[in-house]
Amino acid sequence: MDQVNEVAIVGAGPAGIAAAIYLKRAELHPILLEKNEPGGLLRHAYLVENYPGFPGGITGIELVELFVEQLHAAGVSITKSGVKHVHHHDDTFLIETDQGRLVSSAIIIASGTTPRKLGIKVSASIEGTRLFYDPRSIPLRGNGVKKRILVIGGGDIAFDYTLTLLNWGHEVTIISRSEPTCLPLLQERVRNNGATIHTMSGPEEIVEHREDILLRCRRNNHVEELPADFILVACGRDSNTSFLSPTLKKCIDNTSDGSQPPLPGLYFAGDVIRGPYRQTGIAVGDGIHAAMIVEHYMRTRPVKP
Ligand SMILES: Cc1cc2nc3c(=O)[nH]c(=O)nc-3n(C[C@H](O)[C@H](O)[C@H](O)COP(=O)(O)OP(=O)(O)OC[C@H]3O[C@@H](n4cnc5c(N)ncnc54)[C@H](O)[C@@H]3O)c2cc1C
Repeated sequence: MDQVNEVAIVGAGPAGIAAAIYLKRAELHPILLEKNEPGGLLRHAYLVENYPGFPGGITGIELVELFVEQLHAAGVSITKSGVKHVHHHDDTFLIETDQGRLVSSAIIIASGTTPRKLGIKVSASIEGTRLFYDPRSIPLRGNGVKKRILVIGGGDIAFDYTLTLLNWGHEVTIISRSEPTCLPLLQERVRNNGATIHTMSGPEEIVEHREDILLRCRRNNHVEELPADFILVACGRDSNTSFLSPTLKKCIDNTSDGSQPPLPGLYFAGDVIRGPYRQTGIAVGDGIHAAMIVEHYMRTRPVKP
């Protein structure tokens, strides 16, 4: 019989970190599982200006460093482990990871989101070499050469990524199917920092052409070809729940905010459950909320003899 952990948390982004700090202080001993670096999506934020406590704003990376410092000060360590499958059996959660198997009485799913694919024809050879979904994956930094980058998307994330790329000294053109939906202040900053914005421009195909990649877009019934060194896609995000069993996956549809878990011991927190309302403050609040419900569940649940 495997040793049963009290609570497992999948994902050490803002939601998972906030949940872990709360649970540790409540003398439950969470195991916090993270497949990459801690901090999740927040690592990519150029400047966070709406998280209280930082009147002058703070970069995403700096805020993550503070979160991790606080996590360690609370006595929680992060277990570097990718969760491959979770299912529920006999009042416990069985968690298959790339490091082995774990069992827990309760679980908080704080696994965030994954970027939505473009849904157009793309030659397989450019995925991960010329076509990316976050700026830090692009092989850009360090060589001092200015690159031409097309950012596809019209929301806050596309514009925030653009600010990061401009700050690194690259030439950026934003391609948006409609008028941008991002905050007006981000549009203004992006324009003031020299990016070009193509609106009403629908991507149709990406092809390789000599040294370049070409993005074919339809704009006002004309096809235009935009050459680039790299393309960055920021066209929406979907909940990251691929590792949940079909039964557990269904639970996400049956819980609006995690306060009434459809299965005792199972909770969701942060972007994974928030649809379009993806913000650090919401994720942190969700993590604490889930942790408080877990605490109550662990103290009051009937324990089998
Ligand atoms: C460019 C950009 C700018 C932003 N700017 C702001 C801003 O200014 N203000 C603001 O409030 N918010 C901002 N955000 C949003 C904010 O970053 C997110 O709302 C927040 O990070 C969500 O936290 P989370 O913990 O729910 O999910 P995430 O941050 O996505 O963390 C999920 C974690 O789970 C891990 N994980 C996933 N699957 C597994 C698995 N199978 N096994 C183990 N680990 C797993 C991931 O690696 C990740 O670390 C921005 C986001 C981006 C991308």
